[in-house]
Amino acid sequence: QLSGYGPHRFYHCDPERGKRLVLSRVFQPQNLRGDQVLSLEDRSGDLTCKSQRLMLQVGLIHPASPGCYHLLPYTVRAMEKLERVIDQEMQAIGGQKVNMPSLSPAELWRATNRWDLMGKELLRLRDRHGKEYCLGPTHEEAVTALVASQKRVSYKQLPLLLYQVTRKFRDEPRPRFGLLRGREFYMKDMYTFDSSPEAARHTYGLVCEAYSSLFRRLGLRCVRVQADVGSIGGTASHEFQLPADIGEDRFAVCPSCGFSANTETLHSSQTDCPACWGPLTKARGIEVGHTFYLGTKYSSIFNAQFTNAQGKPCLAEMGCYGLGVTRILAAAVEVLSTEDCIRWPGLLAPYQVCLIPPKKGSKEEAAAELMGHLYDLITEAVPQLRGEVLLDDRTHLTIGNRLKDANKFGYPFVIIAGKRALEDPAHFEVWSQNTGEVVFLTREGVTEFL
Ligand code: ATP
Ligand code: MG
Ligand code: MG
Ligand code: MG
Repeated sequence: QLSGYGPHRFYHCDPERGKRLVLSRVFQPQNLRGDQVLSLEDRSGDLTCKSQRLMLQVGLIHPASPGCYHLLPYTVRAMEKLERVIDQEMQAIGGQKVNMPSLSPAELWRATNRWDLMGKELLRLRDRHGKEYCLGPTHEEAVTALVASQKRVSYKQLPLLLYQVTRKFRDEPRPRFGLLRGREFYMKDMYTFDSSPEAARHTYGLVCEAYSSLFRRLGLRCVRVQADVGSIGGTASHEFQLPADIGEDRFAVCPSCGFSANTETLHSSQTDCPACWGPLTKARGIEVGHTFYLGTKYSSIFNAQFTNAQGKPCLAEMGCYGLGVTRILAAAVEVLSTEDCIRWPGLLAPYQVCLIPPKKGSKEEAAAELMGHLYDLITEAVPQLRGEVLLDDRTHLTIGNRLKDANKFGYPFVIIAGKRALEDPAHFEVWSQNTGEVVFLTREGVTEFL
């Protein structure tokens, strides 16, 4: 027990020792801390889009080298939440989580000829023995070799759905837009193995539905479009595009029959729907997910087999499915935020609630203690909010300044202890950031409301 760190002196509370999380302890280099607003122009000459600007401004990310960012505490919290939602969706369709090495031996890539095909995008290196590797940009080779090493997989063990959430490395010619196009980024990649083309197409449909469900839960209106198979290969492919002006892709949709495709797959000037000849509508999008039906392209190279009902060895039918994890975070910030204020999908907000006690030395200072009690009450009464409530303990700043910051950070709920917190019974001012609604509630009212 350290004296002076008791919960009643909450503005000194240390998150390591006390149970209240306080804003002054959050690590946010070059951030916007009310009184020390740093001008962005001072820091980066190459700002290119809203999400990148906002994320740098409030200390969510910090540039490390071209296309590489430090992910700071708020971003990591949002990313962990996103990973949890992804886990739920992938495991609901039978996905099993694995984690494959980033260091990927060249011989795997030579086997598929992608050591040459990938060109400069592949980040290559040698170990002390001169053995060649690349840093994995994707894992079709690795996962197929892994499954092929299991000699007696029975058709009864299929479908097999393996996925991971790991860092990927691509030497992008133009890394830009912050986390939207990095050289090192997080991807969720799933690989599926089935016993027949029909079964594989069924699995393909399941994964696409899981993706749609994920984006629905995040409140992101993505469009599923037909896409090119690119260097990954296979016979069918779809992208999940999030409509956005800064999107680097263009896609076309047909309002009459629902056809949709990345314009890469059409003749670029085509204006009529290839399915019903109705007029096509075109839009820009951010590619947040991509699914491929691979067939036996990789299983035939690595000899990934299973034994069928007759005991005969057959090649596995494969699919692969990517989600840009860090890209989804930035894309969500890009489309949901205003020019000055970050907005998150509700499920991903780094903290759900921000509490703002009165300024130190003000008339209402006595209400600060009530705010501390409110913190404890919320975290005790609402178990889902444990670890989700942040106390803005910068009590040298006015409530107004801190409310402005809270608005910028996009906490779904902001609660202020103003003048009415001293009345009997005390009332707190509760802001719902996503609707702009403000209500005055008692302590118990707040916990009920939340
Ligand atoms: P793009 O067309 O934007 O270069 P891609 O088609 O090369 O993407 P895929 O190989 O389909 O990417 O990878 C699966 C997912 O990984 C993509 O849908 C995207 O969400 C994400 N992704 C790809 N490249 C990057 C990157 N450089 N930075 C962040 N996310 C990326
Ligand atoms: Mg690419
Ligand atoms: Mg693409
Ligand atoms: Mg793609």
